[in-house]
Amino acid sequence: MAVDGHGAERIVIENCAVATVDAADTEYATGYVVVAGHLIESVGAGPAPAVEGVTRRIDATGHLATPGLVNTHHHFYQWLTRGLAQDSNLFNWLVELYPTWARIDEPMVHAAASGSLAMLARGGVTTAMDHHYVFPRGAGDLLGAEIRAAAGLGMRFTAARGSMDRGRSDGGLPPDFAVESTEQALLATESAIDTYHDASFGSMLRIAVAPCSPFSVSTELMREAAVLARRRGVRLHTHGSETVEEEKFCHELFGMGPTDYFASTGWLGADVWMAHCVHMNDSDIAAFARTGTGVAHCPSSNARLAAGIARVPDMLAAGVPVGLGVDGAASNESGELHTELRNALLINRLGGGEKAMGARQALRLGTYGGAQVLGRAAEIGSLEAGKLADLVLWKLDGLAHASIADPVAALVLGAAAPVTLSLVGGVPVVENGRLTRADEDELARLTRSEARRLAEVAGLR
Ligand SMILES: [Zn+2]
Repeated sequence: MAVDGHGAERIVIENCAVATVDAADTEYATGYVVVAGHLIESVGAGPAPAVEGVTRRIDATGHLATPGLVNTHHHFYQWLTRGLAQDSNLFNWLVELYPTWARIDEPMVHAAASGSLAMLARGGVTTAMDHHYVFPRGAGDLLGAEIRAAAGLGMRFTAARGSMDRGRSDGGLPPDFAVESTEQALLATESAIDTYHDASFGSMLRIAVAPCSPFSVSTELMREAAVLARRRGVRLHTHGSETVEEEKFCHELFGMGPTDYFASTGWLGADVWMAHCVHMNDSDIAAFARTGTGVAHCPSSNARLAAGIARVPDMLAAGVPVGLGVDGAASNESGELHTELRNALLINRLGGGEKAMGARQALRLGTYGGAQVLGRAAEIGSLEAGKLADLVLWKLDGLAHASIADPVAALVLGAAAPVTLSLVGGVPVVENGRLTRADEDELARLTRSEARRLAEVAGLR
């Protein structure tokens, strides 16, 4: 299959294995991908067809081509608070970290976002998202800082404008000084949509409406956020059913479990995706499936905070859209998504047995599944003619992988594979394992110095 790319500059990638992650899971042991401008023009088996206007021809022998990975849940600012509260569950971890997080400012968030995005990009992520919900007064333009960071590295990006308005004095978990007023949160969220949201095909930047969680957000803000998102045609994101403590909190405060609470506030729907969804019973999963509500599965974070094992195989069997997320770097210090392919498979097998998840299913979660939950499955998430040229060439002929015959097994079950090339809309963001638009050593110095500055202003050192 091909699209008309007449007159476009072309990149021809050939002699590689190809895992398209299309509806039929089509794979080619040796195949090609032709990129015309920002689109995939053709994908197939054998040598590439003769095309005109080739500006770059890549002999990708020893590589696997896949769609770029899609990250569906993150908190960039936490890049500066990694390695803290090492042995805590979610609520204790939050209570320990909130006072530090309340001291972040614009340069810190810009550095943290750059560091987080750089790690994602190096690991084959082409579409990133961030859920930012801490907006201390006078901290500067925090959402703008992360949007600048994503644009700087060339990443496709969904910025989920988060919020918290239920402080300790209203029965919530965060301290009062870390929250906004309900009205302020809604106004700032709508202003972010006005300023940044681009709904067009191939958009590099989308905004989502994203109050933080039932235990840090008022019922009014949950309800009004859903109304706002639907009025403006943007997606909704939040944390849901992460821990037993959250479930208990919902029963005590609202007299119902998290999923029923979400249903009662307008938060189930095909335009909603939620992080975690660990503690879901059969009727919760059925409600997600019936409404098309998506899930960002974050296996490493769930393990780090001992939250539990999400029932991903049951969700998939019921037809729930599921993508992968690294979650914030304070609960997943690696911040890498390619290693989450492996962790998703391992953790779901611990939860559901050896048939619970296969390597190809894990790859699908990290690509097409992510595209689905971000509402972008028509544009990204599989290698198909007419889709955006967001793709990765994984090097699998080195010591770590060369003896594994099945390239998808090598990618998912083996060590984290090096990225030889990563394209976003046909533009290289990683070449030979290095970022094309930023100096990693410089980023390492910057993030270290901003982490130290945060520790100092927060009184940690
Ligand atoms: Zn999170």
